[in-house]
Amino acid sequence: MVFNFDGCIREVPGISVDCFTKHKFDECSTFFLSHCHSDHMTGLFDGFLSNFQSNKKLKLFCTVVSEIILRNMASIDGIDATAVLDQTVTKMMFDQEYDLDIDGFQVKVTAIKAKHCTGSCMFLFKTECSNVLYTGDFRHLPHQLKFISALRGFRKKNIPLDTIYVDTTFLLGSTKNSLPTINKTIRCIIREIKKFSRKYPKGIVLIIRPANLGSELMIRELARVFNTKIHVEDKLCELYKDIDYVRPFLTNDPSETFIHFCKQGDISAKDSETCEIHPTALSFASNDARKVQEEVDRMVMSATLRNT
Ligand SMILES: [Zn+2]
Ligand SMILES: [Zn+2]
Repeated sequence: MVFNFDGCIREVPGISVDCFTKHKFDECSTFFLSHCHSDHMTGLFDGFLSNFQSNKKLKLFCTVVSEIILRNMASIDGIDATAVLDQTVTKMMFDQEYDLDIDGFQVKVTAIKAKHCTGSCMFLFKTECSNVLYTGDFRHLPHQLKFISALRGFRKKNIPLDTIYVDTTFLLGSTKNSLPTINKTIRCIIREIKKFSRKYPKGIVLIIRPANLGSELMIRELARVFNTKIHVEDKLCELYKDIDYVRPFLTNDPSETFIHFCKQGDISAKDSETCEIHPTALSFASNDARKVQEEVDRMVMSATLRNT
């Protein structure tokens, strides 16, 4: 069953998760943001920041890294959000339980790593009556669940979950059994780049990024394996400012590297051979999901060579 999640967690009144539309501010005092992808931030900058000006009781909970990204996003958009974010945001550490009193309702909340984009988390809510997990977008394999300490209680037994809200882009029948692991995808991309570079030592690799956030592991791995920085536009350097996990691997100087994560038009050496790579998880949700999977298995992975 597919439905649009509206931010409401029935078991915890007065909160909204990943939804900041206007009417939420009439019903809720406490907001949660799982990660900084636009489909989970609906209304955040318009609604939350302006509503916050008139209602100082509003609170936002997100992880430490998501808070940095929010600041950088606001600064890129020319919004002066420093004061508002300072007063509003509680920066959550992973796997640490926070005791909240939401208009008299007691709830314990834990941010759990979601392994999606940088800073992303799932939220575990524990009330007197129930345990609820909100996933957002996540990338955990079944065998990894036993390593999530927040989901284990006394004597390391799994805690019972009464409700799970699976609000993820990839919960589609068509992605079943066809979504490759991120490690497999990165290995595949590395192999294609090596093959290309052997043939065209002065060639350029252009990776068409599916979103501004979420390719951090790929950036780090490519930088490490090919011993080079990755080129992105100024805007993306700004977005990753103060994110030490990623920023050192990026450059805004296109001449410094042969691997580009930037918009196609930014590449300076336009007369070089180019290997274009399109990593996008959503290909696996298409009607051709099986075909795409077969291509990955043959290690082709949407890489196309073109001579320009
Ligand atoms: Zn996402
Ligand atoms: Zn570039």
